[in-house]
Amino acid sequence: MAQETMSFQAEVKQLLHLMIHSLYSNKEIFLRELISNASDAADKLRFEGIENSALYENDPDLRIRISYDKAARTVTIDDNGIGMSREEAISNLGTIARSGTKEFFSKLSGDQQKDAALIGQFGVGFYSGFIVADKITVETRRAGLPASEGVRWESAGEGDFVVEQIERAQRGSSITLHLRPEEDEFLSTHKLKSIIQKYSDHVALPILMKQEEWDAEKSEMVTKDEDETVNQASALWTRPKSEITDEQYKQFYQHLSHDHDDPLAWTHNRVEGRSEYTQLLYVPKHAPFDMWNRDHKGGLKLYVKRVFIMDDAEQLVPAYLRFVKGVVDSADLPLNVSREILQESRDVKAIREGVTKRVLSMLEEVASSSAEATDDAEKAKYATFWKEFGQVFKEGIGEDYGNRERIAKLVRFASTNTDSSEQTVALADYVSRMKPEQTKIYYVTADTWQAAKNSPHLEVFRKKGVEVLLLTDRVDEWMLSFLNEFDGKPLQSVARGDLDLGALNDEEKQAQEKVGEELKPLVESMKAALEGKAKDVRLTFRLTDSPTCLVADDGDMSGYLQRMLKQAGQAAPQMQPILEVNPEHPLVKQLHADDANFGDWCHLLFDQAMLAEGGTLEDPASFVKRTNALLLAR
Ligand code: ADP
Ligand code: MG
Repeated sequence: MAQETMSFQAEVKQLLHLMIHSLYSNKEIFLRELISNASDAADKLRFEGIENSALYENDPDLRIRISYDKAARTVTIDDNGIGMSREEAISNLGTIARSGTKEFFSKLSGDQQKDAALIGQFGVGFYSGFIVADKITVETRRAGLPASEGVRWESAGEGDFVVEQIERAQRGSSITLHLRPEEDEFLSTHKLKSIIQKYSDHVALPILMKQEEWDAEKSEMVTKDEDETVNQASALWTRPKSEITDEQYKQFYQHLSHDHDDPLAWTHNRVEGRSEYTQLLYVPKHAPFDMWNRDHKGGLKLYVKRVFIMDDAEQLVPAYLRFVKGVVDSADLPLNVSREILQESRDVKAIREGVTKRVLSMLEEVASSSAEATDDAEKAKYATFWKEFGQVFKEGIGEDYGNRERIAKLVRFASTNTDSSEQTVALADYVSRMKPEQTKIYYVTADTWQAAKNSPHLEVFRKKGVEVLLLTDRVDEWMLSFLNEFDGKPLQSVARGDLDLGALNDEEKQAQEKVGEELKPLVESMKAALEGKAKDVRLTFRLTDSPTCLVADDGDMSGYLQRMLKQAGQAAPQMQPILEVNPEHPLVKQLHADDANFGDWCHLLFDQAMLAEGGTLEDPASFVKRTNALLLAR
């Protein structure tokens, strides 16, 4: 087929522009990106080769070769991996709008160093070649296709690219960068080698370069014909722990996750027994941009006896640990394992349990070392983890029955004990601060920390100095339905059921009973006025500053949870709340059942209570009308 010129997709154009003009300060990453693509291509060939060994075409030793040509001023990255067909070259290198590309732009900070680091994370790595090249030529042939179906793809990175069919005997891809005039520093074995060792040492296949030697006669370096392997070329996780430096663990993480930052923590071990596998697991320092997308891919890289099988094997970690990155290399699974098989395999179940235990121990270690640390960075570690992943982690309370107790110890909350919305209070801390006569762990749920903190339900707790946990994450209500107690202490919502705040003295009790007797007729009238709106009306002594508050009946769903379900578009049972009335409040004291506007007052007090807990009014217009009428009546 003849040459064909095509246009880059609009976003790609924008990206190219950015790449060339602003990512200059970290330009050497182009090599890491292109080597990573070559390594992916080898992984894909190995995987397809399991079913179809003909794809190896009598060239089974997978490798990457890096070379340069001083005269032509080019650097070439060559692999004998899977290669690309014409269609693949067009869509993979030019026209597809990757889902990450848009997000990539929205995350740009203007800080070049940071922006450069984003490139890998968003899967736009190939274009980084244009940082140093003013033209890129790709020659490739997909494994299994005849030599006549080679492809040349070429672009100056300025808006369009050319594709052409070529004759190509060699399987795989060869990426040639035509360097920009000022980029001659890359035309050096020493320079290229040092970049490879810095970023790509852990790539599991050999990266070859021609050996160089000092020629005394010419008094310059000359290139020999022999190859040398310039990277470690062994899978990091297969090496003994004692031989791996922290630096190597960190670099491997960056390779694995496309995250420029160091990981927060890692754990590496070999499990022997009924199921044999090696695991190298990392907790990142920050959540990926798409963690809450439905199609976010969690999971680990799966290898079987060092052969790459698949990315994002979700079956290897429970969903609440979907932020964990890493590798599992199994000795037991068959090489032709599919996602379907993974779902049913008993070996996989054993691995998942093992991975879970390992991650929990790792988090326990981080938590305790953070708690004991004296330097700020170490101290902040667990808080960082919690800020980034706490909401996801909480799902474990409901999902992982077997580890519930361990998980509950790792969960952190905001509470009235601190004046911050940051979630730093462990249940154990709470328990250690409980009043001698206190038997329950109290909490309040609300949409925001502000609303929780100012909830009228807290008034009596504040007065008595009893700590209350402030829960404002969407998953909290759901989580609590699985967490009935901690350390033998039941968890109790301050907005649910009759409040019993421990022993009131007899005097107080008698006084309350007396007030109750006196106000009985008033309460009955209020109940009649709010028929259909409030399930019940009763007096409360839990309030100090507010006239009223709403509570859910024991066993009923809380108002907050009902609202959440509604927002999520799910059917929530309509449950009427109970209106509790503070007899000490001046507004309540001036209420008389025979007043002309008594009904308006009742509705107003109910609606106020609804607003105070972050609820919405069914009929806001009437609320405004009533309020105005009452204001005018004064
Ligand atoms: P990513 O690697 O994150 O998918 P890149 O921009 O680095 O994004 O690469 C885009 C795509 O181009 C790859 O997903 C792959 O399909 C294809 N590709 C790039 N380099 C190669 C290569 N050396 N061999 C085969 N395919 C490649
Ligand atoms: Mg890539």
